[in-house]
Parts: sequence; C-alpha cells; structure tokens
Amino acid sequence: MKTILLVDDSSLVINMLTKALNDSFKNIKILTAKSVKEAANYILNEDITIHIGVIDLNLPDGYDGEVVDLTINKDIPTIVLTGLLSQNIKNIILEKRVIDFILKDSPKVLKQTLTSIDRVLKNYDTNILVVDDSSTQLIIATKMLNKIKLNVTTAKNGKDAYDILESSDKKFSLVLTDYHMPEMDGIELTLKIREKYDKDELGIIVLSGNKDIDVHAQCIKMGANDFINKPYSEIEVSTRVNSNLEILELFQKTRDMANKDFLTGAYNRRYFFETGQATFRKAKRAKKDLVVAMFDIDKFKNINDTYGHNIGDIAIKEIAKILNKNLRDSDLMARFGGEEFCVLLENISLENTKILFEKIRLAFENNILHALAHTIKYTVSIGVCYGIEDNLEMMIKKADEGLYYCKNNGRNQVAINK
Ligand code: GH3
Ligand code: MG
Ligand code: MG
Repeated sequence: MKTILLVDDSSLVINMLTKALNDSFKNIKILTAKSVKEAANYILNEDITIHIGVIDLNLPDGYDGEVVDLTINKDIPTIVLTGLLSQNIKNIILEKRVIDFILKDSPKVLKQTLTSIDRVLKNYDTNILVVDDSSTQLIIATKMLNKIKLNVTTAKNGKDAYDILESSDKKFSLVLTDYHMPEMDGIELTLKIREKYDKDELGIIVLSGNKDIDVHAQCIKMGANDFINKPYSEIEVSTRVNSNLEILELFQKTRDMANKDFLTGAYNRRYFFETGQATFRKAKRAKKDLVVAMFDIDKFKNINDTYGHNIGDIAIKEIAKILNKNLRDSDLMARFGGEEFCVLLENISLENTKILFEKIRLAFENNILHALAHTIKYTVSIGVCYGIEDNLEMMIKKADEGLYYCKNNGRNQVAINK
C-alpha cells in the first residue's frame, strides 16, 4: 500500500485527481489537504509514511512552496502543480529539487501527473545496480537515485557487479556503470552482462568522463542502452534513468502480451512449457525434486449455467488471484485452458508440498467471491506430482492422473503421487 498526499486548495482539482488516481492505481491510499496547515499535520505526523506528494504551490496560507519544503525535508518525492510559471516559481522548483512540475492549465495535466506518479510508485519496487571504483561517486549516485526512490545496490568494480547479478535474489532492472575501473571496466562488464541478459530485460547505462568522442558509440555497440557524459547533472541522470526504465517496461509489456493469458494475467501454456523445460533440465541435472500441480474448479459448468459466462470468467480470474497469493514469486503458474491451471515449484520438501496444497485447497473452500451482486463459492481439485520423472510431460501426466482421481472420489481434495 502506497500513500499519496494531494495538496490543493481547489476542491475541483482534488476531486479530479482523487478519482483519476483511484481509477489508475491499485493499493493506494490518498490523503488530501487544502492548506499548508492541513498538509503539515500529515507530513509531520511520525505515524504516517507518505510515498509521494502532489503539491500546489499557491495555497491560502502560503505561496512560497512552504509545503514543498516540508516534503523535501522528509525525503518525500514531490511533484509540483502550478498555475503559472513565473521566475519565482521556476526558482522554487529548481532550488527545492522537486522531481517534476506540472502546469495546471495544460490540457495534459492529468495524464502528466499520473505518468509522473506511476514512475515514482514503480521505482519503490525497482532495483538498480550502481558500479564505480570511487566510493565517493557511489555515495553521490546512491543519494541521487534514492531521491527518485529506486532501491540501490552498489559494486566497486565490474567483477563484483557481475557476481551480484548472478547471486542476488533481487531482480535488477538497470545497471549504471562507470567506464574506467580496475579489473573489469564498463565495456568489459557490458559485454559480460550481454552474454546472459538481453538489452530488453536488463538495461545498462555507462557513465564516462572520457574525452574520446568514439566512446559513446562504442558503449552502445557493445550493448549498453545509454551513455551519460561526466560530469553530469543530477537531473540528467534521474531523467535518463527514468526514461530507460520506461522503455524497459514497454518491452516487458510486449513480452507479457505474447506470454500471458489475457483474462487472468497468468502465463499461458506455451510459456509454461518453454520456461518449465529449462527448470526441469536444471533440476534433473542437479538430481533435485520438482512439483507439478494441476488445478481444476469442481463443477464449474454449474457456475456458468447458473450465473452466466461473465461470472464464470470472474471465477476463473479468482483462481489466479488465490494462487498468486499463496505461491512464491519464483513459482511458475499458468492457465492451461478453461478453468484449469498448472503450477511448477522448485526447492520445496514433500512435507511442505502437502501442507501448501492443502492450505490452497482450504483457501478456495473458505473463499466467498462477490461478483456482480452474486455471492459465489466453489472448490477445487488438485493433482500433484512430486519428484523428478523422465520428462516434464510425464510430471504433468501424473499430476493430471491425480486430478482425475480427485474428481472420481468426491472432488475438493488434493491427490499426490507420494
Ligand atoms: P469437474 O468438477 O468435473 O471439473 O466439472 P466441471 O463442470 O468443472 O467440468 P469441466 O471441467 O469439463 O467444465 C469446464 C467448463 O468450462 C466447460 C466450458 O464451457 C467452460 N469454460 C471453458 N473456458 C471458459 C472460459 O474462458 N470462461 C468461462 N466462463 N467458461 C469456460
Ligand atoms: Mg472443472
Ligand atoms: Mg476443466
């Protein structure tokens, strides 16, 4: 849950923004204030964490950006709304280091505000790896990137950076690397990263003070996404970082369209096999056990027949929701068709597998779904294959056999091959 503070003395602006924010973002809480005094009450309250402030500069009890001083002091990323762009206001914006400013009379005010907020909210969950042999530079860069709310990890040379990428649990979106470094320089690091990670899945920005005009092109040719000259300004780095993140997200959206099911957002069958085969081969080599489980709603036809297809669809979406809630990020979940889902899990014991699927079965049994004025309950049957078979298809077949066993023995149960 992220908290957004809206400060504007106009009810019209507050209402318009509140509605737009609620329509665009899930899991947000909106606080509104119409004066410096009201805003200060929220900002200075130690019990409230504000993740972003959208602040009007002109308020009845202050027009010199008093609220902006408060938010900036508390490290709250701040977007300024202003009616006009006078010299005084330009100074306030520059001096106070706000992350964005938006002119209220622009026809794009709403879209711009939402885009800006969206970026900051996403940054809270985005990891960036900064690589530099100078610890002073690392501190400066970390401060700068923390201001736009990115989670920063640092490395002091290319080799360390690569090790971090390989071993960390974090998923990094971007690497910001210095060019001149001992052991492995920025270009060597870029080449090494590109052996494994494509340009559209992990971005690289190289920073260099090298006067050689060819360095820029050389970095891009070797696989960097962007290049920044040193010395740089803070605004340049944060703008380039944000715009590279936006481009990477567009790539991700395109990939999702090919790999995910439109109704539920779960992966599709094709993607399951593509990724699942790699996971299977890895487990087989390491002689490790895997789990494949098949889920199917019990008597789903009744839901369709009683309430109609639309509600049937909502019930199917609910499966993905409940599974997502109960599985780990690293687990693979796919919709195989209709109301049938398949999951693939690594690194779990037989005992925990039994506990997990029983917990999920119970979660469905206890779930009450409210859909278009109807209250719907349904159960699921789950067939589980634990271990490591000859191939992935065989594991799916065994899970399917478990599922049929459940269906023939009263449904609403888990059947496991062990
Ligand atoms: P069982 O307990 O044996 O699984 O009974 P069931 O009624 O769930 O039987 P079955 O799995 O054969 O029924 C699947 C139904 O799902 C049939 C089909 O009309 C419906 N269906 C398939 N795809 C969709 C979909 O995308 N949306 C909706 N609403 N229904 C779908
Ligand atoms: Mg069914
Ligand atoms: Mg079915």
